[in-house]
Amino acid sequence: MDISNYKGVLVFVEQRRGEIQNVSLELLGKGRKIADELGVSLIAAIPGYKINNSSNLLVAYGADKVVIMDHEDLETYTTEPYTQVMTEIIEREKPEVVLFGATSIGRDLAPRVSARLGTGLTADCTSLDISEDRLLMMTRPAFGGNIMATIVCPDHRPQMSTVRPGVMTKMERDPSRTGDVVQMPVSLEKNPMCVEVLKFEQVMEAKQDIQDAKILVSGGRGIGSKENFEVLYDLSDTIGGMVSASRAAVDSGWLDPSHQVGQTGKTVRPDLYFACGISGAIQHVAGMEEAELIIAINKDKGSKIFEVADLGVVGDVHKILPLVTEEIKKI
Ligand code: FAD
Repeated sequence: MDISNYKGVLVFVEQRRGEIQNVSLELLGKGRKIADELGVSLIAAIPGYKINNSSNLLVAYGADKVVIMDHEDLETYTTEPYTQVMTEIIEREKPEVVLFGATSIGRDLAPRVSARLGTGLTADCTSLDISEDRLLMMTRPAFGGNIMATIVCPDHRPQMSTVRPGVMTKMERDPSRTGDVVQMPVSLEKNPMCVEVLKFEQVMEAKQDIQDAKILVSGGRGIGSKENFEVLYDLSDTIGGMVSASRAAVDSGWLDPSHQVGQTGKTVRPDLYFACGISGAIQHVAGMEEAELIIAINKDKGSKIFEVADLGVVGDVHKILPLVTEEIKKI
């Protein structure tokens, strides 16, 4: 393979019912930095139906060029038509780097596209950097989260990765940016997988996503029971935050999985993170260490959570948290 033919960065833009997903804007932010470092342009590729009005937004968030693939069969994600159009756009544009969100859609789509292109894919990345010899260094947790592995794809192009939502930062929206908008003609082969969307069912979702919360009061196994989480809700209501949890607490059925922080949960970056009765296992820390200020409450002073905490309180969470809430209520 002559890798010198490949230039540029391409981001797969994910839309659901016409709404651009946050992870795609985060990837445009990271893609912009990579493109600037390599001195190449950034393409946003968006498959969908009647989505022309999203192009300005994608340019404002960093794209130099938006390629729209508009077809009624692309309105809702199904594997085969999306795989066809994404493979085609990559073959046409020949980017050296292609990024997908590690969402249910990206995790289904990216491996199929990479297999058709005959290149590699690093899944579930938490950081991306460019090496001195212009290779994309894709870092992801490995061996159950016990080490971070940095993977490169030296001999094939494009270098492809899926990236976890919440780990990259969006660019500041700049409506004055300009870029090209082009339509790629779409002709889809008959869908060999014969997948058809029959209906949508709205699942009950949390009113707010923990990834958007500025303050998180997070509880672990040390909280002891679902009922005991009341003290965490009291504090979070008082300071306008949300309650989240470790996997141990979620697995115990005390909180919904959408509230889990960590490697197999969500990556969060709040201004303030309370870690209550959480030991600080590497898989948990991977999801919260970027918080601006971390306050840990744990009765074991040797607990690992104190290694990442800015402020640590050694003691029983059931005694300390109500006192904290009471004091804050007085302010
Ligand atoms: P524990 O480790 O049991 O810690 C409980 C803590 O509470 C202890 O430190 C104890 O001292 C303290 N405590 C007890 N009682 C009190 C009290 N009254 N007051 C104050 N402190 C008290 N974990 C995640 O959280 N998120 C993930 O996404 C995740 N993904 C994983 C992926 C893989 C592949 C694997 C192998 C594991 C993953 N885990 C994840 C699990 C992780 O390894 C830990 O098992 C988990 O984080 C432990 O949760 P915990 O800290 O709540 O519980």
